[in-house]
Formats: sequence, structure tokens, C-alpha cells
Amino acid sequence: MLQLKHVNKFYGDHHVLKDISLTIEDGEKVVIIGPSGSGKSTLIRCMNGLETITDGLILIDDIDITKKNAPIQKVRQKVAMVFQNFNLYAHKTILENLTLAPIKIKGISKKEAEKTGMEYLERVGLADKANAYPAQLSGGQQQRVAISRVLNMHPEVILFDEPTSALDPEMIQEVLEVMIDLSSNNMTMVVVTHEMGFARTVADKIIFMDDGSIVETGTPEHFFTNTQNKRAQDFLSKII
Ligand code: ATP
Ligand code: MG
Repeated sequence: MLQLKHVNKFYGDHHVLKDISLTIEDGEKVVIIGPSGSGKSTLIRCMNGLETITDGLILIDDIDITKKNAPIQKVRQKVAMVFQNFNLYAHKTILENLTLAPIKIKGISKKEAEKTGMEYLERVGLADKANAYPAQLSGGQQQRVAISRVLNMHPEVILFDEPTSALDPEMIQEVLEVMIDLSSNNMTMVVVTHEMGFARTVADKIIFMDDGSIVETGTPEHFFTNTQNKRAQDFLSKII
């Protein structure tokens, strides 16, 4: 379980996260939406300690990750992140991209890391690219590799920060399909996205942020049909 309690963050004088409290249960799929600059990336980056907070608590299975001596390396193994721009290692093959962290950080044998790595590549439909380099793959393929790389670390939670927004339109669907496939497992997923079709089908809970605050939280059904919140209505009318 991931819990945020009264989280505040400032960049200088700028109050970018305002008293955020939320609980994400094991296996839950949470989609975060909201206008540009509302604090979505900052919020999910706090969830695995990529950003520090000014005050409040962030608990992962009752470990307070905001404490000075928090085991941040362990936290990042439990709570992994998929970025907008894939962030693959350009000079490593696809399979090496998948095996590097399990071998170095988790101490898993090369043989075992390659075995599970190939299974995950298979799952995202890219086993035949194991020996290629990232530049030889399309954006959609690179993002699928990035997802399989994260899976090869066996995280409990995966955070996605606009995973399809750097892709050409025809590649968006193949990445969403991998994410939909993942969502049918027990993986906990927190996804920042503008893909409302994905949000509608996959989310257990949608969180709408505006200006650093959570303005509304609800099921997709509530959100897309019943929201009374003016800012959420305005946002939806622009995006759908
Ligand atoms: P987008 O949809 O454009 O990705 P977002 O909702 O993810 O936006 P954030 O990137 O979290 O928004 O930014 C929230 C606010 O914090 C913005 O006003 C942004 O300018 C500010 N901000 C983000 N990162 C920094 C930083 N490193 N230093 C100072 N201000 C920052
Ligand atoms: Mg962002």
C-alpha cells in the first residue's frame, strides 16, 4: 500500500503540491489527469523518492520514504518508473537494457536475468529485438522495452509519466495495449496520461489535479458522467 499524508512541496516560493493525501491499495490502477503545470509529474516523482517533499509523509508498506535514512534504493526497486522519453541505455543492447539493473542492483545471476528478461520481451512482443540497439527501434518499441525493463526488476508498483505522449499517433495503441495487458495482473499502476480511453477502461480511480491540489477523486464512471466540478468539466471538455 502506498500512502501520502498531507504532502506539500515548494520550489522556492512556488507551492507545487498542496496538502496531498491519498491511498493507493495493492493492485489498484490509478490514473492522474489535469492541466499542464498542475503538479502531476512532481506528485508521482515523489512517490519513489525522485523528488523530496517539503512536509508530510509518504509511506510504502509502512516505510516512511521521506525520512533521512530511508532505504531509497529498496524503495525504487519496489516502486519503478516509466518515463515519457523511454530513457533506454543507447549503447547497450535491448537485452542488456533489461539485465543490467537486476544483475547490478539486485545481485541476480546473468543467466537468470536473461531468462526472465527474454520472457518479458516475449510478453511485449519484442523477443526478436533482444540483440538490437535502442536506436534501431521505433518509439513505440522503445517504450515497450522500457516497460519490460521495469518488469524485469519485479516491482510492486509502476509509475508511468505520460508514457505515450512522445510517440507518433500510430504507436500509441501498441504501448497502451501492453499497459492494458499489465493491468489485468495484480500490478499496482499509477499512470499520468491524457489517454482518456485508457483511463476509462483501466482506472479503478481517477485523480484530477489542478494547481497543485487534488480537486476530485472518483471512479471513471463518476468522473466522465457526473463530475460537478467546474475545473474538471472544463478540462474534460477541452480534451475529449
Ligand atoms: P505537464 O502536464 O506539463 O507535464 P505537470 O502537471 O506534470 O505538467 P509538473 O511538472 O509537476 O506539472 O510541474 C508542477 C509545477 O512545478 C509547474 O509550475 C512547474 O513549473 C514547477 N516545477 C516543476 N519542476 C520544477 C523544478 N525542477 N524547479 C522549479 N519548478 C519546477
Ligand atoms: Mg508532467
